[in-house]
Amino acid sequence: MKYISTRGNAPILNFEEALLTGLASDGGLYLPVSWPKINTSEIPKGKYWEKATFIMLPFVGDFLNEQELLKLTKKAYSHFPSDEAAPLRKLKNNKFLLELYHGPTLAFKDFAMLLLAELFEAALEKKGKKITILGATSGDTGSAAIEAFKNSNHADVFILFPKGMVSETQRRQMTTVSSKSVYPIEIDGTFDDCQNLVKSLFQEKKFREETNLAAINSINWGRIAAQIVYYFTSFELLGEEKVSFSVPTGNFGDILAGWVAKKMGLPISHLIVATNENDILNRAILSGDYSLEKVQATISPSMDIQISSNFERMLFEAYNRDSREISCLMNELVSNRGFTIKDSALNFIKKDFISNKASEEDTKKTIQKFYKEENIIIDPHTAVGLFAANEIGLNETSIISLGTAHPAKFPEAVFDVLNVYPEIPKKLQECLKGEEKFATMDKDPNFLKEYIKENL
Ligand SMILES: *Cc1c(COP(=O)(O)O)cnc(C)c1O
Repeated sequence: MKYISTRGNAPILNFEEALLTGLASDGGLYLPVSWPKINTSEIPKGKYWEKATFIMLPFVGDFLNEQELLKLTKKAYSHFPSDEAAPLRKLKNNKFLLELYHGPTLAFKDFAMLLLAELFEAALEKKGKKITILGATSGDTGSAAIEAFKNSNHADVFILFPKGMVSETQRRQMTTVSSKSVYPIEIDGTFDDCQNLVKSLFQEKKFREETNLAAINSINWGRIAAQIVYYFTSFELLGEEKVSFSVPTGNFGDILAGWVAKKMGLPISHLIVATNENDILNRAILSGDYSLEKVQATISPSMDIQISSNFERMLFEAYNRDSREISCLMNELVSNRGFTIKDSALNFIKKDFISNKASEEDTKKTIQKFYKEENIIIDPHTAVGLFAANEIGLNETSIISLGTAHPAKFPEAVFDVLNVYPEIPKKLQECLKGEEKFATMDKDPNFLKEYIKENL
């Protein structure tokens, strides 16, 4: 499979190169030249990693053969407590909860990050090369990346997180890991500031080449590819003809993977984009208005995002893969802090996506409702998705809501609403006792460059 940039001005790459490159040199995002089709009836019956291998092979094929990929998926997903890495829980009224939070850092980010780390190791081992991973996190990506790469022989990991905008548990999960190659950095700014710092360093050709910079944010195609898998496996567990998904959405990576699954042949009726009060995607899908507002801090911090990076991939599709138009829109986003999606493109998006926004009140009420009615404690992100599923309530299909984080990651928010604390898994208890180590910094790319150079 070959990979092209949404902005049309970067080299065409194979999987291995796209994996190591992350953000394209023209500022765009890589995606496959075409969407492979798979036959759902041919997905192997056995373990999660066997299914993952089958589903991902068309994307990875020119880099690894089936046996090689199987080795990596097996290694990655053996970090989950059971062979069913992503169990499906039946709720009332044709609703289902896909539990994606049983991995080592208790959020769905583990699915992509654990495999990404294995893929990176394989590629770097082959090349005999070392890289510098630079990533921004709104909370869960950072800990998943640190956990997945902490024993890497080939990568140093620098993770930026916004001061005061991640939960204490999320921060501790990043800052208490002892590893010589891990550097968490607290930035005095928002998640978007962190993401912009990452982008600006990637655009400095000299620095990028000197340090072999690599990206593990969901701009990296490898992450999207890994997330396609559980859409297929949950559909199989559901055992119905057709399905819809409700996805708590921030950077549009997870839900984009669902859209790709549909392109690959999974019978998905609708994908519900569930946002919190940072509702740029809700506005965009309802009316075509993609304009930046100030980031609001909510109790679902991993979705406190305005610029939704992966939406560029969706726009690329909706604009008939016209990279000139995408480049114009992205320039407009920088100069005018927003743009309007043209009608034909918006209609294309609306064929597959419905959107919904949960206020803080909606999210809290949903946590209470599920505690009372289903006797389960859900985390605030998962609540945003379940709220949207309830509001929209499709008649024609069951809705699977993606449970994106374990409530133990957000104990304060849960206690505030329910007056009970979620049970804290043992591994997390240990991490909460550890000593914290991290750097703090203003949002200045020069400080960041210096810090990275000093520590390599
Ligand atoms: C990252 C994250 C999301 C949002 O996923 P995107 O791929 O950025 O849309 C939702 N919930 C949790 C818990 C997350 O960590």
